[in-house]
Amino acid sequence: MPTPSDQPSVIVVGGGIGGLAAALALARQGVAVELLEQAATIGEIGAGIQLGANAYAALDALGVGEAARNRSVFTDRLLLMDAVDATEVARVEVGDAFRARFGNPYGVIHRADIHLSILEAVEKHPRIQFRTSTVVKGYVRDGRHVEVIDTQGNRYRADALIGADGVKSAIRQQLIGDPVRVTGHVVYRAVVDVENMPEELQINAPVVWAGPHCHLVHYPLRGGQQYNLVVTFHSREKEEWGVREGSKEEVLSYFQGVHPRPHQMLHRPTSWKRWATADREPVDHWSEGNVTVLGDAAHPMTQYMAQGACMALEDAVTLGEAVRVAQGDFVEAFRRYEAARIPRTARVVWSTREMGRIYHAAGVERLVRNQLWAGRTQDKFYDALQWLYGWKVENCLGVPQAG
Ligand SMILES: Cc1cc2nc3c(=O)[nH]c(=O)nc-3n(C[C@H](O)[C@H](O)[C@H](O)COP(=O)(O)OP(=O)(O)OC[C@H]3O[C@@H](n4cnc5c(N)ncnc54)[C@H](O)[C@@H]3O)c2cc1C
Repeated sequence: MPTPSDQPSVIVVGGGIGGLAAALALARQGVAVELLEQAATIGEIGAGIQLGANAYAALDALGVGEAARNRSVFTDRLLLMDAVDATEVARVEVGDAFRARFGNPYGVIHRADIHLSILEAVEKHPRIQFRTSTVVKGYVRDGRHVEVIDTQGNRYRADALIGADGVKSAIRQQLIGDPVRVTGHVVYRAVVDVENMPEELQINAPVVWAGPHCHLVHYPLRGGQQYNLVVTFHSREKEEWGVREGSKEEVLSYFQGVHPRPHQMLHRPTSWKRWATADREPVDHWSEGNVTVLGDAAHPMTQYMAQGACMALEDAVTLGEAVRVAQGDFVEAFRRYEAARIPRTARVVWSTREMGRIYHAAGVERLVRNQLWAGRTQDKFYDALQWLYGWKVENCLGVPQAG
């Protein structure tokens, strides 16, 4: 048995979904993990998240699939509606046929619940140490070790470092130094109780209402006792990445041409915080020796394919597999990890931008959008989604499946 000091060690910066999942994946491969989080308490914002079949495959590989499933709502379908005339544009059934095809369901879950499902396992794991109220400033590579420095001047030493510190990652800044790309798209999010959700919109599906330069989304949470609402629009202002107070008046001003059915959603939230979103251009390297990045720090993306957290979960599992295959050689493991993850996540980043264009189509583009999937069979939808939802841990380091 190796003594604790003989164990390979890693520092993970960031206790979001990606950082927690990475800590767990590595600890399960025998690595001692120190997780540093800037917030005083670990948690997530009050909003929902969609989990594709690929996310459940990753959660299973982390040993927390059952905990996450118990807190998920499994939806019947994915629905795309035209927000101007309230007609259906596309539907993908995600019941039995979907599960048979991809081996996993499509679910929705409160962010606090998915975060908790991973946190419970992290807290129980003897090889993971947690430090909150620790704001990381940067790192120094020192031979085969790396030293991480926080804003108080404290130093933490390990064999390797993983930056899972989100869109504004300090680790990425030092490693790559590229700018974020502020999209100019603004998001408002809210969770409302079922009593406050119009009955005709209590649908067991993520429903996207696609409007000109805007869209609305709703889906159930927590056994249908709550609903997640998200509205997005192209801002008229010059936006800076971040969160600030907004107003109902601002939201209403962007949704004037929208049909009364989805429009009624805009009167339901009681809190009006606005997020100006950002992503980054994909780059061809994420690592420098024994330092790498993961999750939004590696591939921040817009939310239009509902895949940012799903990709962070896949990253974490792939990283664990790479460490296993490289037998604890972190430089080799990070090389394998980024070789597998960069093309896949870049495809998602670019697909997501395209999906945003489709959601927000106006004029003739809208007319084309509304005919794109007319008459398409479910099997054809599944074929088109195979590359995304067909991800499995068994082939996570290898060549992607056709699709
Ligand atoms: C409106 C919206 C809807 C979305 N919907 C979905 C969806 O349906 N499905 C989906 O899969 N994804 C969705 N996403 C994307 C998803 O939220 C993110 O991709 C995911 O949360 C990223 O997780 P992460 O752990 O990489 O980063 P984060 O969640 O940003 O976590 C980073 C952590 O690092 C900490 N940190 C930051 N800097 C430092 C520092 N210097 N020192 C120490 N700690 C630090 C932060 O406090 C935080 O805890 C959505 C995003 C948005 C904006």
